[in-house]
Amino acid sequence: MTQRKILIAGAGLGGLAAASFLMQDGHAVEVYEQAEQLEEIGAGIQISANAMHALRHLGLEAAIRQAGVRPGAYVFRLHDTGEEIQRFALSDEHERLHGAPYTQLHRADFHGILLDKARALDPGVVRLNKRVTGFTEDAEGVTLAFADGSSARGDLIVGADGLKSAVRRQIAGEVPANYTGDAAWRITVPVERLPPGLVEPVMSVFLGPGGHAVCYYVRGGAVLNFVGIVETDEISDESWTVKMPWERLKADYRGWHPIIQTVIDAADRDQCYRWSLHNRLPIPNWSTARATLLGDAAHATLPYLAQGAVMAIEDGAVLMRALRQEADIAAALRLYQRNRIERTSRIVLQSSENRRRFHLRTEAAIRAEFARANEGADRNNWLYSYNPMTVPLS
Ligand code: FAD
Repeated sequence: MTQRKILIAGAGLGGLAAASFLMQDGHAVEVYEQAEQLEEIGAGIQISANAMHALRHLGLEAAIRQAGVRPGAYVFRLHDTGEEIQRFALSDEHERLHGAPYTQLHRADFHGILLDKARALDPGVVRLNKRVTGFTEDAEGVTLAFADGSSARGDLIVGADGLKSAVRRQIAGEVPANYTGDAAWRITVPVERLPPGLVEPVMSVFLGPGGHAVCYYVRGGAVLNFVGIVETDEISDESWTVKMPWERLKADYRGWHPIIQTVIDAADRDQCYRWSLHNRLPIPNWSTARATLLGDAAHATLPYLAQGAVMAIEDGAVLMRALRQEADIAAALRLYQRNRIERTSRIVLQSSENRRRFHLRTEAAIRAEFARANEGADRNNWLYSYNPMTVPLS
């Protein structure tokens, strides 16, 4: 296998995981991040078996298990009575079926684990305060340009620069982002503020008219993560860091189950955030001869299957394998993209479809929808059963 010099734009979850996959395979990697310092926001992230196979390859399974929570099940409930509509097992059953755990973590903990791994492979791998503005490529290599006027030269570029990717803009042009009509509230609550046993240690989804709410534990069960999706005409920035008044959150969930009320009541009043969710259709091509994309830059998704970061990690593992399999860089990037595009498009489209399924207007419609579809069997069949380390690449 030919060792390459690989430049990665973005030190998010996808960029850091890819950096470690590629360094572990002997490539020289430089990660360029626009932020002055690395930090992740206070929210949860779910990592299913399909990503854990790749994280295990990096030796991170033990650290992730230790930092996270293994939920017992995935449970759908009615928003007001809390009546259970459907449940499928996670914990032991997920591991039995797929050979790796389903884990729920604090994003900062997960980002820290990935950063420590990348720095253990090369302490200087991440270069901060470097905003990528574009790139040029020629027969010998590729040059990444930064906002500060400097540049870096390598054999190939990986754009892991997220939803508003500069690398994608150059490869695929502007990709329209259409407001979905949904905004995502996020809060986290230390469990000592909640009555003991208030929330079952599962992935809880409360299905309401025109919205849904998700609760699960992170930090070994010490913190409850709440994400509330509401329909609203008011569009704010597409960002995790837009604060909104607690009173608005409370009003958005008026009439919902007492568990939801108790969780919202226990939140820090000045720590309620709301992010406007946009749809981007899958793009048919995300590579050139020496540049490619991964994660949200390649296939931004709504969070309604909890697979955005998971896909980014799968991408990094498949890219690593494609570079092993093909000596020619352009051929390797084609192999990578060819083997990722169908799966990631399916996940993006299914996540968008879940918006309809999770926001039905009447109890009867919710019951009918979930009577028709066995969510667990479906996801176990095609989503969680994928293994990016062993799936044949052709
Ligand atoms: P990001 O994490 O966005 O990282 C991009 C990085 O690139 C950032 O550090 C950014 O600063 C940097 N950057 C951007 N532009 C430039 C530039 N020009 N130059 C240099 N650096 C740049 N996914 C899951 O798998 N499971 C979940 O449970 C889950 N829950 C979610 C819940 C919600 C409400 C939302 C909104 C998303 C959720 N996701 C989940 C999706 C997940 O957060 C994203 O898919 C994931 O963070 C994508 O990782 P990434 O590395 O591609 O991009």
